[in-house]
Amino acid sequence: MYLCGPTVYNYAHIGNARPAVVFDLLARVLRRHYKLTFARNFTDVDDKINAASIETGKPINEITERFMQIYNEDMAALGVLPPDIEPRATEHIGEMVVMIEALVENGFAYESSNHVLFDVESYADYGALSNRSLREMIAGARVEVADYKRNAHDFVLWKPSTPELPGWDSPWGRGRPGWHIECSAMAAKHLGDTIDIHAGGQDLIFPHHENELAQSRCAHDGADFARYWVHNGFLSIDHEKMSKSLGNVLLVHKLIESVPGEVVRLALLSAHYRQPLDWSDETVDSARRMLDRLYGAIRGIEVGEEARADAVPLESVVAALEDDLNTPRAMAEFFGLAKTLNKETDASEQEKLAAAMVATGDLLGLLQNDPEAWFAGHVEGELSAEDINAIIDKRNAARAAKDFAAADTFRDELAAAGVQIEDGPEGTTWRRA
Ligand code: AMP
Ligand code: ZN
Repeated sequence: MYLCGPTVYNYAHIGNARPAVVFDLLARVLRRHYKLTFARNFTDVDDKINAASIETGKPINEITERFMQIYNEDMAALGVLPPDIEPRATEHIGEMVVMIEALVENGFAYESSNHVLFDVESYADYGALSNRSLREMIAGARVEVADYKRNAHDFVLWKPSTPELPGWDSPWGRGRPGWHIECSAMAAKHLGDTIDIHAGGQDLIFPHHENELAQSRCAHDGADFARYWVHNGFLSIDHEKMSKSLGNVLLVHKLIESVPGEVVRLALLSAHYRQPLDWSDETVDSARRMLDRLYGAIRGIEVGEEARADAVPLESVVAALEDDLNTPRAMAEFFGLAKTLNKETDASEQEKLAAAMVATGDLLGLLQNDPEAWFAGHVEGELSAEDINAIIDKRNAARAAKDFAAADTFRDELAAAGVQIEDGPEGTTWRRA
């Protein structure tokens, strides 16, 4: 499986995290049955990176190294496992040049004004992936066509670099690759001419994937490029497109300072991956409540080594995930299991059910923390576990002194902060509501 990865010149936003999380889940599901090789690239040569370098005065490789590391750390916080291969575009320039040479030699690309362009007219199926016809595209094109292009839709495979820009020697002079050829060359190098699954965000279908498909097939004697394409839907914020101009760009790096990564992961998986997902405070709160329910069910149940080793993910959850990654149904089934566990009174059955919950969570990349640590989890802007315990102590002291009005005030204070308390034989326990 190949997933188009980030262009590394700034922090990933919550929309960028959606494909990383969704296809991490797909990889986990596939690995149950198949030997998967999963590649997710880093685009570390791009005009946006060059612009960032000029703007900040920092060398390009300093910027790309820094943001590759931050990306991996941020995604790890969301439970995204490292892919098997993380190819970097700058380490595959040789492969790109060879591929472009093959395209030129076979009449699919042409050199013009130090650029090399893919000739879309040379590939009859151009537009098939995105369901567009080249004829309609041409008719609808109002863009000024660069004079070195034969057709407005011809796209750049190679372009010249000025001395201050990153560049590599090539048969067409010193230059740098276009974005699309990067993925085609990296996919071919690591996964072969035909890959099983190609993934990415919906916005990449056209032109990026259409172009990858065209150039890969033409460079490989017409061999199929990807057997399956999977695209995630777009994430909006409070029903608005995330954009710099609206000032509503939510960075993962910032978000996980105040929201547990596990909550963010579940929120990103709460909608079916092909559907749009609207992000709001309610999306986060709802994911938090779901995790409270799941952790609440396994809380206080000792799961021994043996039960853990014997446990397998709940069959109905697996079935839902194997049905085009139906995460809403998978979560509903998962809650069914939590409910069964909540009703179970037999200790050994409870242990088995709790072990099944942990195994199911493991498949989803959830529920791997100690439940007590989860419920004690301190989130910025909220009361810390220490604060909560202090208020509970004061309340219990008031109750012992039969000052029930004061005791109620303390309970209300906790409730207002979203903390519910429960009095039991072992004393008072609490959870975030
Ligand atoms: P980029 O770095 O812009 O190439 O984006 C990296 C990945 O994030 C691509 O797979 C995009 O399709 C995806 N992506 C960008 N914005 C969003 C969004 N708002 N919702 C979902 N996916 C997105
Ligand atoms: Zn790509």
